[in-house]
Amino acid sequence: MTQQQWGPVARTDEQDVAVLVIDHPPVNASTAALRAGLLAGVAAAARDERVTAVVLIGAGRHFVSGSDLREFEAGTLPEPQLPDVIAAIERCPKPVVAALAGATLGGGFELALGCDGRIARAGGVVGFPEVTLGMIPGAGGTQRTLRLVTPSRALELATSGERLPVERARDEGLVDEVVVSSLRTEAIRFARALEGKRVLRDLPVRTQEPGAVEDSARRAIAAGRARPAVVAAVGAVLTGTAVPAARALAHERAEFNRLRTGREAAALRHLFFARTAVRKANRAEAPCELTHVGVVGAGTMGAGIARACAEAGIRVTVVDQDPAAARRAVESLGGTYLRMVSAGRLGAGEAGRRLELLSAGTDLSDFKDVDLAIEAVFEDTAAKVGVLRELESVTQRGTTLATNTSYLDVDELAAALDDPSRLVGTHFFNPAHRAAVLEIVRGARTSDAAMDMAFTVAHAMRKLPVVAGVCDGFIGNRVYSAYRRQCELMVEEGAAPEEIDSALEEFGFAMGPFAVADMAGLDIAWRMRQRRAPGRDPRERYPDVADRLCERGRLGQKTGDGWYHYEPGSRTPVPDRQVARLIDESRRRKGITPRAFTADEIVRRALMAMANESALLLDEGIADRAGDIDLMLTLAYGFPEHVGGVAFWARGQDPSVLEAEQRRLGEVTGQGFRSGRLELLTATAWPVAGSPG
Ligand code: NAD
Repeated sequence: MTQQQWGPVARTDEQDVAVLVIDHPPVNASTAALRAGLLAGVAAAARDERVTAVVLIGAGRHFVSGSDLREFEAGTLPEPQLPDVIAAIERCPKPVVAALAGATLGGGFELALGCDGRIARAGGVVGFPEVTLGMIPGAGGTQRTLRLVTPSRALELATSGERLPVERARDEGLVDEVVVSSLRTEAIRFARALEGKRVLRDLPVRTQEPGAVEDSARRAIAAGRARPAVVAAVGAVLTGTAVPAARALAHERAEFNRLRTGREAAALRHLFFARTAVRKANRAEAPCELTHVGVVGAGTMGAGIARACAEAGIRVTVVDQDPAAARRAVESLGGTYLRMVSAGRLGAGEAGRRLELLSAGTDLSDFKDVDLAIEAVFEDTAAKVGVLRELESVTQRGTTLATNTSYLDVDELAAALDDPSRLVGTHFFNPAHRAAVLEIVRGARTSDAAMDMAFTVAHAMRKLPVVAGVCDGFIGNRVYSAYRRQCELMVEEGAAPEEIDSALEEFGFAMGPFAVADMAGLDIAWRMRQRRAPGRDPRERYPDVADRLCERGRLGQKTGDGWYHYEPGSRTPVPDRQVARLIDESRRRKGITPRAFTADEIVRRALMAMANESALLLDEGIADRAGDIDLMLTLAYGFPEHVGGVAFWARGQDPSVLEAEQRRLGEVTGQGFRSGRLELLTATAWPVAGSPG
């Protein structure tokens, strides 16, 4: 029975124990209202003479999953803040117990550490994901863990973002008990049994052999690539080992606020909100039955998609025009799993389960009972149309058909079917079993049922489902092509490929565009250029160095030469004089006098090309939201996450400077350039609800 209510916090006592129930759906994220409720509830329990102990517990599946990140957008956080609540709990003369359930992350875990005891329902997790959002714990997380585990371990927890199962957290002393039966009853029992207060900040820091924490700090900074948040987390833990708790807590809070209000954390929050918006918008209206997938084509992508299916627990049959190729793909995956098992990276049972799900079919008639058929044959309209028509006739009526095309017109492919509404694009990225995002292409006639099936497969594979409309290259490849083309134009004008790569890598891209091209192989884009040659406007600038490289058999890493030279067995790109000569020849043929580029000019021009194309995508309705483009670029194209994607980058620029750069980009690009409306990128959207849990 509720005795008192303070916003989302209700008090429902059990004799001498005050039970404060937190009910703030969907995930009990910490907001000002929740904290105010806790503050009032703890104060009331402290005053109440009948109360001997207090339990904090969530009403739903979670205790407190984390902080509501929308609050973090403001310069100052709304009152009361989390340290105020924790201070009140520590001051409360009666023991306060946190009853953890589900995900107790970030601020939620800090709140729990501010209590006198922690009891958890089996199956939950705890952890500090702050560094993954460009911040550090700010309410004593780094300091209170120091009282329970060694400084090295505290450092690991603060810098890795690790989600620790509560069972392990108990073994390490971070949680006192894990229970499987009623959490409320057990928490009350546990609270009654506590002998007084146990305030962690008053305990001494755990000690460790000399030099160990310094070693851990070096390792953590290297593993975190010296990102500011990782360095600050290390600093906070080390400070805690050297100065009294009050000073160390103040240092941690100041660092948290410094990072929270900085650009990197804002960029990472933007990606977090964008992801929440995608998950909310792109999900199956009606859950689809998905137990058997058919894949046509057992090449790089077909084999990868089959692997992704098996790893998602879905039965999959692979068919190739060359039956030996399908068999080889399945066998080679068997070999991969075997190696993983012997290296201890995969359990033998799980490997067996996956292999059981995988089979090589002999022809498409093996697909008669599939729930979804995906084609991943050559990138050629005629080849794909042939396969799709056959799939339409062998599968049950209404079965969703999907194409993995990278660039082809999904509507044109659909038009070849008796029922075009069955076709959807599922553009997997390579390697298909690992890529974090699935680009789902909605054709003009794609049915809702086919979209639902695509969402279902993305969900089963734990991939973020980003929806794109039909155009050349959809979202990802179209923006990337615009970027790569601009980089090739800069080469023509005087920049060396290695200068461009190093400028963009310095900016934060995982790899520069020329190193990426060599890794992917130059022949794919070459074939595409050849196909498109007849339709090309002769007045458009056409950078031709890549064609010259391909004509000389320089197809990238696989031939040992491409935009760079590669020593046998090495993947390290080495600038090559022959390439420089080919570039010089191209410039001479076109009458271009080379000029010098600064790294800043290279980066801004490349980003402007991406921003302009992204604005066009939004204007044409190909992408639903600017955030979708940013997610695609950061998850699948190596765009630096800490910059937040190209739309978020553009938002941070002076609009008049951007406009001037866009005009200049139009001038240098010449014929065929179209200006996107940049305001479509830079208009801010209100963040969607969510917490890092
Ligand atoms: P691939 O050349 O490695 O494999 C294609 C396979 O399809 C071959 O094994 C071939 O024998 C088979 N095949 C061709 N015609 C067939 C038919 N009529 N019936 C049955 N099998 C047939 O090609 P890939 O790199 O795996 O690309 C496949 C598709 O995925 C293409 O549309 C490509 O654009 C797209 N894609 C590729 C990548 C990538 O990085 N490679 C990424 C995303 C999308």
